[in-house]
Amino acid sequence: YDLEHFCIPGHYASDVKHVMIPKGLILDRTEKLAQDICRDLQAPLVALCVLKGGYQFFTDLLDFIKNYNASAARSFQMQVDFIRLKSYVDDKSSGEIKVIGGDSMENLRGKNVLICEDIIDTGATMTKLLELMKKFEPANVKVASLFVKRTPLSVGYRPDYTGFEIPNEFVVGYALDYNEYFRDLNHVCVINEHGQKKYAT
Ligand code: 5GP
Ligand code: MG
Ligand code: MG
Repeated sequence: YDLEHFCIPGHYASDVKHVMIPKGLILDRTEKLAQDICRDLQAPLVALCVLKGGYQFFTDLLDFIKNYNASAARSFQMQVDFIRLKSYVDDKSSGEIKVIGGDSMENLRGKNVLICEDIIDTGATMTKLLELMKKFEPANVKVASLFVKRTPLSVGYRPDYTGFEIPNEFVVGYALDYNEYFRDLNHVCVINEHGQKKYAT
């Protein structure tokens, strides 16, 4: 979408190429995802947010789930938790990930877990997280990812709930970052060359 049709904060106005998905559309899609999820899942449920990129999707999805629970005949209780994933940088070849923060994963034992992630690219990160989680024997694990990228590098992983399939471009906004910038942008956008240079590390 053309930039001039959207509110882009002044500090990013010259860094963005176009809007790929406006926030309003994300919310509409998330409402439907919440409905699908509520029909499938049941307590004891732990909604697990993968930080930092997943926070906006997580809060909006949970708002819809809470609304559903407040009005539907069948409601279910849930707990929330937050984790961050770090790749081991000292040993790049291992490709291992480390979970930091959050309650002990012991808390997931016997629970139904809904992992909320911002984006699946190759799928390597999610595959490893699921592998790691297995040890703690949750009753059931489902993954909701706002975006799935069409990439030739995919390991073949598909989440249980997908918001949007998107082209193979680097996106920012709606909590997704480029070197920690652009999380404070409402719409999901593609950055331009100027933005890439400005916020390069
Ligand atoms: P994967 O292991 O699936 O290749 O990568 C997953 C992680 O890479 C995501 O959780 C996200 O942190 C990051 N990532 C992949 N593609 C994008 C993108 O287009 N934009 C942003 N901001 N992060 C991305
Ligand atoms: Mg992520
Ligand atoms: Mg990031």
